[in-house]
Amino acid sequence: MINLINMGSDIGNLTINAFNAIIESDVIVNYDNIDMSDLDTYLKGKEIICLDEIESVEDRDTAGIDLDESESIEIEADVYSRLNEKYSKIELAVSKSSDNNVSIICSNGTKIFGIANLLIQITSKYNNLELKIYPAVSPIDYSSAVLGAPFNDLVAIDLNNPISSDRELRNKIRFALKSNLVLFIHNPVGENFKKLKKIVVKFNDELLSGIVRDDYSYEICKFKDIDEESLEEGSSLVIGNRLTHELEDYMVTSSDYIVEPKFISQNIDFFERYLKDETPKGLDYDCEYLPCHKTLEACDFCYCPFYPCADGVTGGEWIKDKDVWSCQHCDWIHLEEPCKAIRKGLGKILEDKDDLKSKHIELLKLRRECLLKTLK
Ligand code: SF4
Repeated sequence: MINLINMGSDIGNLTINAFNAIIESDVIVNYDNIDMSDLDTYLKGKEIICLDEIESVEDRDTAGIDLDESESIEIEADVYSRLNEKYSKIELAVSKSSDNNVSIICSNGTKIFGIANLLIQITSKYNNLELKIYPAVSPIDYSSAVLGAPFNDLVAIDLNNPISSDRELRNKIRFALKSNLVLFIHNPVGENFKKLKKIVVKFNDELLSGIVRDDYSYEICKFKDIDEESLEEGSSLVIGNRLTHELEDYMVTSSDYIVEPKFISQNIDFFERYLKDETPKGLDYDCEYLPCHKTLEACDFCYCPFYPCADGVTGGEWIKDKDVWSCQHCDWIHLEEPCKAIRKGLGKILEDKDDLKSKHIELLKLRRECLLKTLK
C-alpha cells in the first residue's frame, strides 16, 4: 500500500486521517524533505527515507547527451535531471510497497494539490498497486479562509507547468478574467508573475487582489499595486472579480447573503408612483436635495428596489449595532447606465408595490445582472 500524504503548508494543516496513515506506515518517504521534527515521537521505529539517501541521477540522466551542443539541450538536460530526481523517490516508494505500508509525505510546494496527479501517472506503469491519497488543507482553501473566502466562482491556474505554452496560459487567464471568475495562482514568483502581470494589466489591473503567505500573513491591494517583492516562494495570489471588495480588512466576493426586506412608508410611496410612471427619469432639478450624492447622474431610484441588498460592493454598509443597512455611500444606483439597466429589468418583475417584498430574491438577481453589466 502507498499512502500519499499531503502535508499542506505546515504540520498544523495535516488532517487526522493523514496523521493516522503516517502512524500505521512502516516506511516514510519524505518527498520534499519537509521538517518532520514535530512528528518525531510518532516516527520512532519507522524507516525514514529523505532526499540524501536517494541515488543521484544527475550523471545518469545526462549520459549520451552532448551538453556542449547547444544551450537548449543543456536546459532540457537540467529539467530531466531535476524531474528524474523527483520521480526516483516515487519509484523507491513503489519498490518498498511490495512488503511494507509506505507513506510518501509531500508539501504543496509549487503545486496546488501536492503530487497526487504525478503519483497516479507514474504508478500506472505497475499492476496491483494500492494507492490511498490523503489531502491536506490546500493553498486554495487556506487562502480563501484567511482572506475572508473571496472564492465563489473560482479558477485555479498553474503557472509552473514546464510544458504549458505562454499562449495556453494567456488564453486561460483571459477567459477567467472575462468570465468574471476569481483567479487563484499558487507560487506566482519571478518570471511567472511578470507573465501574469502583462495579461492582467491589459484587462483590468484595478481588481482587488490578496497575497497569502505560509505564516497566515496576508496583504490586500489592487492588482496594479502588488509589490513583486512581497510574493515569496510558496505564497498564493488571489485576483478577485468585479464583485470582490474589501470589508473589515478582509476580501469578500458578493454572493448569497440575503436579508429579508423591511420597508419604510416613503419607499412604498415612491414605488407606487414609479408604477404609475410619476417618478423622475434622469436628474430631478426640482428636488431640494440635489445633488445628494457625489457622482449623481440620475434620480430614477431615489429609493432602491433592492433594499436592503446587504452587499457592500456598491458602497452600502451596516450601521454598527443598529441592524440598519445604510445606502449613504452607494453611488452606483444613481448613475445613468445602471438606472437604465435596472428600469429595463424591473418592468418584468415589479407589477405591484408588494412585489418589492415578495420578489426580493428575484430583484437581487436583477441587481447582480445589472452589476455585472455596469461595474468596471
Ligand atoms: S447599497 Fe445601493 S444597491 Fe444596495 S440597497 Fe443600497 S442603494 Fe440599493
